[in-house]
Amino acid sequence: MHELSVARNIIEIVEQNVPKGELSCVREVMLKVGEFSGVVADSLKFSYEIITADTELQNSELKIEAVPFRLRCNSCGGITTNSCGLRECADCLKTDTEVLSGEELKITEIILEDKS
Ligand SMILES: [Zn+2]
Repeated sequence: MHELSVARNIIEIVEQNVPKGELSCVREVMLKVGEFSGVVADSLKFSYEIITADTELQNSELKIEAVPFRLRCNSCGGITTNSCGLRECADCLKTDTEVLSGEELKITEIILEDKS
């Protein structure tokens, strides 16, 4: 199950970015997941919950923002959005395109509980 290893990676990154004693204060981990990152958001959330259960991160939640797949055509400059991940310009049908978004998988923010 791919999402399980992705969830482990996310937890590693959180552990690297949050000081040891404050892991239990993590409330939300914001994540951008591209439509074509190859990750299923629901499975990822589920995996995250399983792995963090009974750990210092058990009160944290994964918040996933889905990013649509977008291409820019190098030939006509048109922007294409499609839901099949095809790298073809919708205007001129050339495949000389650049992926603008939709393949990312990254943590954008880690939100800690305000201790004050
Ligand atoms: Zn084009």
